[in-house]
Order: sequence, then C-alpha cells, then structure tokens
Amino acid sequence: FGAQKLTTRAATMNGRDHTTESLKVAVIGAGAAGLVTARELRREGHEPVIFEQGSKVGGVWVYTDKVEEPHGASSRIGAAEERVHSSMYAGLRTNLPREVMSYTDFPFTRSWGDTRRFCGHAEVEAYLEAFAAAFDLEKYIRFNTPVLSLTPCEAGSPPRARLGSDTAPTNGHQAGHQREAMPVFDAVIVCNGHYSDPRRPDIPGMAEFPGRLLHSHSYRRNEPFEGMTVVVIGASASGEDISREIAHVADKVYLCARSWQNPAWAAETVEPFGARRNIWRRGVPSRLHPDGGVTFQGGKRVDAVDVVMFATGYCYSFPFLADTRIDGAEIVTVEDNRVSPLYKHIFPPSTAPTLSFVGLPWKVVPFAQYELQAKWIARVLSARVSLPGQRHMLADISAFYADLDKEGVPKRHTHMLGDKQWEYNDWLAAACGPDVTPLPQWRPKMYKVAGDTKRAVPETYRDVWPEAELLAEAAAEASRLGA
Ligand code: FAD
Repeated sequence: FGAQKLTTRAATMNGRDHTTESLKVAVIGAGAAGLVTARELRREGHEPVIFEQGSKVGGVWVYTDKVEEPHGASSRIGAAEERVHSSMYAGLRTNLPREVMSYTDFPFTRSWGDTRRFCGHAEVEAYLEAFAAAFDLEKYIRFNTPVLSLTPCEAGSPPRARLGSDTAPTNGHQAGHQREAMPVFDAVIVCNGHYSDPRRPDIPGMAEFPGRLLHSHSYRRNEPFEGMTVVVIGASASGEDISREIAHVADKVYLCARSWQNPAWAAETVEPFGARRNIWRRGVPSRLHPDGGVTFQGGKRVDAVDVVMFATGYCYSFPFLADTRIDGAEIVTVEDNRVSPLYKHIFPPSTAPTLSFVGLPWKVVPFAQYELQAKWIARVLSARVSLPGQRHMLADISAFYADLDKEGVPKRHTHMLGDKQWEYNDWLAAACGPDVTPLPQWRPKMYKVAGDTKRAVPETYRDVWPEAELLAEAAAEASRLGA
C-alpha cells in the first residue's frame, strides 16, 4: 500500500515544509464522507479519484423505492438478490437540525425546496449535490464503478495500491461483471458508509415464525402495515421513528429494547403512547412462536403478530478488503462491530498512512467530523503533519481498548462516540495544525438541545425549537461565510 514510501516521506519531512508532490488517491464512495474527503485532498494538492458504485452523489441520502426484501407477506429475511445501498424511508426527516449537520464552511441554512429545519431526505441529498457542485467535485468521480478488491503491489515493485474495480453501469455487487485493470494509487481512503449491511440478531423460533421478518434497511412506507400487529426490535433513532410512523396505520405496535434512550421510560409500558395511543414498550423478544405469538423478556406475550421488524442497526463491511493481505495478514478485522486495529478510528498502523477510513464513528454529528478526519488524512499524506510510529499507534489502540473495558463499554460500541465526539473532533482539529480552528461551541450546544428536546417531546421535537440564541449564532456564522 505504499506504506514504506509514505512513512519514509513523513519521517523525513517532519519539521520541514510539507511536500509539494501530488499523490494520486483513490476514494471509495461519493457519500457525505467521500465528497468532503476529495475536497480536502484537492486543498492539499492531491489528485483524488472517487469510485462510486451508484450513479449519483449523496450515498444513503439517495432515496430509492427498491428494497432487498420484497414486501410480500411471505417474504423472509435474507432473500436479497441485489444489494441496495440506501436505508432511507420515504417519510424520513432528519433527527438533527440542519444547521448542525453542515460541513464547517458550507452552511446548511439555505433551502432547496424543503424549508423545515429537520428536513426530509431529499433536502439533504440536494445539500450534498450543491456541495459537490460548489467545489467542482463531480469531475473526480467515476460513477457506476464499484470497487471490488484492493491489491497491494508485490514486494520489489513500487509500493502502491492497485484497485480491482468494475465499470459495468450497475449498482451493486452482482456477479458476472468484468474486472478492469485499474491505475495504481499512492493511497486509498475508504468512505463506503456503514448503514447498508443489516445486523440481524438471532431469536429462538425465528425459523418457524409464520409472520414476516423485515429489517429497517428495507422499510420504505407504512401503507403495507395497515391493520397489522407489528413488533419493532430496537429503539434507537430508526426504531423510535419507524414505530411511530407505522402506528399511524397499524393496529398495534410493540417497540422493544434492551435499554432505553430515555431513562424515564421503563422497559415496559402499561399505558400505550403515540398519536393513536397504540404503541407499547416491551423488553426484547425472547422467543417467536410457530403460532405467530411473540414472548418478550420479562415474560409478557402478544399473539397474532404479523411482522417483526429489526431496527437493530448495521454492520461494518468492507468486502473489497476480504482478500487483501499484508505479510499474509488481514489489514483490519471486523469482530463484533469493532474495526481493528485502527489508530484514532482512521489508520490501520500496518499500512499507515496509505490506507485510511473516514466516517466510522457513530452516534455523532457526521459531516463536520468527516471533514476534520479528511483534513487530517490529507495533511498526513502531504507530510504537512506526521503520524507517530507504528509501535506508538498500536500502543495507543491497546490503551483505548483497555479504557473501553474499564468503562464497561461493549466491544460492539468501540466506534460509538456520543458525548466523546466533541473531544475527538478537537483532537483532530489540533492534529491538523494551528491553522485549523476547533468547531464552534454552538454545535455541541445545539446537538445537546436537540437530544434533550427529542427525549422530552419525542412526537413533536422536530417542529419545536427552544433555543433561539444558538440558531442566531449559526445564522451569524452562515452569513459570515456568505451563505
Ligand atoms: P454513505 O452515505 O453510505 O456513502 C457511501 C457511498 O459509498 C455510497 O454512495 C455507496 O454507493 C458507495 N460505496 C459503497 N461501497 C462501495 C464500493 N465498493 N465501491 C464504490 N462505491 C461504494 N445523519 C445526520 O447527520 N442526520 C440525520 O438525520 C441522519 N439520519 C439518518 C437516517 C438513516 C435511516 C440513516 C441510515 C442514516 C442517517 N444519518 C443521519 C447518518 C448518515 O449515514 C450520514 O449522515 C452520512 O450520510 C453517511 O455518509 P457516508 O459517506 O459515510 O456513507
């Protein structure tokens, strides 16, 4: 992966002006992460080539009616014939106010037709398209080009990465496409998103359950659920939202979770809630029954369940790295949703800095964080800033895992930052150098107010806004930036 070449350069450039050599860098994905990564690479004088399997920019925000699991009553999980990247549903509105979602220097205060602060998915897609246009990024994108594999160059040849790719004009990983010999790259940045590969826990009795099993990845609209009894498993953003949407037409909805975002909610509720007062909270199902019943942890049971919906999140997945080996070993492994080893969620030490990942942390405000990650990577590649040695990075990763263990954080939450995201963002900004200012304080404050409001009034939080001052600060910043 060019590790020797680039780490050597980083070491020799340490303390001097950064290199003027332009590196050819492959970026995998033209979603929010890939776009800002290409912009930052350009700013450092590198040459990005973005490989995008779809035909548009925007990643998960490009809504499609297509689903992997058909809507028929007898459909089963796992019937996918074609992969679908997007997990957006037709009625989705953002769960963050648009101002805080923006990149740092491209305000999301103006509108492309949907003026709501918690806007629909099409508005976010329009924002990302406008970002790509403003920084003239489309010319770097190769659409309809899924990356299928990454091949490090053999020992003895220039240590660069070669991409195996596919230029057939289709979206996905279907078999039968011809591989095209691709140019070699000095570095590869993975921006492939992590909301496309559904996580589906096993529940005893699933195989014999006569109802429909569905993952929220394949939820689009509530009409097919009219009059049904639906069990939704998982009460994070998607589970909370989808259960309320379905409850508008369903007979009864049971929203199940291991733990609740809002400590005021008991694991089980006696009184139903929601606009039609037909949603109940329950523990997660402990068994699905062949007669259509579902038993929940805690012992309660409901009969005649039509649909069990898994809003149980997604897995990190890097199929193009499956066969990539350095000295016979995988560069990173994904175990229990921990991508390892990664220095600061970004660089695998063995190949640093020539392979990197943007956008792995979750429970974060994503776009501005992607921007800081990308800025750091671009500057490391141009040796404007340097990485510590491999041993130091590995020690840092071990210490990080030990801290998670001490705090009792489960392995699958390794990349879940939550409140720690702001400290992480500040670390990234500092790592980029003194000319990069940390994110302004209105961002964490607005994020917190949005979260608190959501917990207090989950039905209406998108349409009430208790904090005019923060809004004014965001607007003032946007006007300084000329938006
Ligand atoms: P993606 O948007 O997934 O983009 C990845 C891109 O890589 C895609 O275009 C894909 O086609 C491409 N790709 C993947 N594999 C390959 C390959 N092998 N070769 C070539 N191309 C490839 N965030 C918010 O800020 N606010 C919200 O309200 C919000 N709501 C959300 C609701 C849902 C239902 C979901 C799923 C996510 C939501 N998010 C929200 C988070 C959202 O994922 C991020 O905002 C962000 O868009 C992720 O960007 P990304 O570039 O990392 O990934």
